Amino acid sequence: MNILETARNIVRNAGKKLGYSAHTIDALLQPNRVIEVKVNIHSETGERVFTGYRSQHNNSRGPYKGGIRFHPQVSREEVLALSILMSIKCAVAGIPFGGSKGGIIVDPKELSKKELEQLSRSYARALFPVIGPHIDVPAPDVNTNPLIMQWMTDEYGKLAGKASPAAFTGKPVDKGGSLGRTEATGRGGVIVLKALLSKLSSKLKVQNSKLTVAVQGFGNVGYYFARIAAETGFKVVAVSDSKGGITKNAKGLSARAGKSQKSKLDIPLVMQCKKKQGTLAGCYCSGGVCDINEGKVVTNDQLLELPVDILVPAALENVITEKNAHKIQAKIIVEMANGPIAQEAYPILQKKGIQVIPDVLANAGGVVVSYFEWVQGLKGEKWEEEKVNKKLQAVLKKSATAVWEESQKARVSLKEAAFMLAVRRLVEKS
Ligand code: NAD
Repeated sequence: MNILETARNIVRNAGKKLGYSAHTIDALLQPNRVIEVKVNIHSETGERVFTGYRSQHNNSRGPYKGGIRFHPQVSREEVLALSILMSIKCAVAGIPFGGSKGGIIVDPKELSKKELEQLSRSYARALFPVIGPHIDVPAPDVNTNPLIMQWMTDEYGKLAGKASPAAFTGKPVDKGGSLGRTEATGRGGVIVLKALLSKLSSKLKVQNSKLTVAVQGFGNVGYYFARIAAETGFKVVAVSDSKGGITKNAKGLSARAGKSQKSKLDIPLVMQCKKKQGTLAGCYCSGGVCDINEGKVVTNDQLLELPVDILVPAALENVITEKNAHKIQAKIIVEMANGPIAQEAYPILQKKGIQVIPDVLANAGGVVVSYFEWVQGLKGEKWEEEKVNKKLQAVLKKSATAVWEESQKARVSLKEAAFMLAVRRLVEKS
């Protein structure tokens, strides 16, 4: 099933459970507009033209909000699906934004830095009439970063005739970005996990103080999730990147992590080692450099099947499928990546009694702090990191509680509950 059909199906299912008519849900699924634009750069060989998109799905709860990706596989269908999911995510988080998404069909790795800047500025110019602080606020996504947001904000400001820091989020911190944004998605995942653990633990018979965690992906989301989870008392016993991973004290792990302090990884040390060696798997047994002498190398497939309490896919979509779902031993899966569980795998996990904390809730920390960045931009303020983190905690705890209560009331999974909550908020404009 493609990404658009999957998104539509989950929304339709939520709408049906809420008792809305098919017409109401079809109307909700229809984007307000999808714009296709010509984006160009002037290279040494002449003008090069690319196709860009912006899907503005729904703004009933506030300005559209969503990332911009630069990727050869960007398509109209993909940005539309992702804009629907942004409307859902903002509604679950309870922040006053709607959903949008944009992208350019391009392989940015083929472009020089100068060309990338031209491309970014050209896209901002093409979208100028339909974006803005109170209309649609873009952010970084796949292959776009704070510098690209800085170029786009600058270009937008030139056309607007005034500096407009609230036109984009995800800017560098010294150019109007928010403190705490880099860590926000990982931090948010830990906040949501902790908020739901107290409710799930009686059901799953897990003891909070001794929970073991395996994290797939050691990029922005995976690293900060692992680090903050470790700081708050979880035992992170396995992490991986695209080349494979490591687990600490594999023997202890198979005996349910041995429950000893020694069985956990020192995450900042592991990051230091990854930076030095290039890959996590390269960190295994590198003597005093890292603290993982008792470790063992695992493949990404093996990591997913480790006997841990909590599994955190934080890298790619569709890594848990019909093929491996029955081998998962974790009791809780936190979907930190977008769509890491294939649709077909859910019933298998549900049958095994595995609780899934859904992506639209678990990884919403990033968009929540983007919202804080937007507010700071509008008000000309600069918040302390502590204030950002405190506010993030408050927003996500409230969302997690709302999703939990919806799931209890409707007797549905957390995923269905999150979509039901969002669909109701979008239809009722609440
Ligand atoms: P990133 O590029 O910083 O990191 C991705 C990590 O995944 C890297 O460590 C990479 O080595 C690893 N990886 C790549 N292929 C892999 C494979 N086959 N197996 C295991 N690991 C692999 O990206 P990110 O920003 O951390 O995003 C990760 C996921 O989280 C994506 O699905 C993204 O859409 C989602 N997400 C990110 C944010 C955010 O704020 N960055 C917000 C919401 C959702």
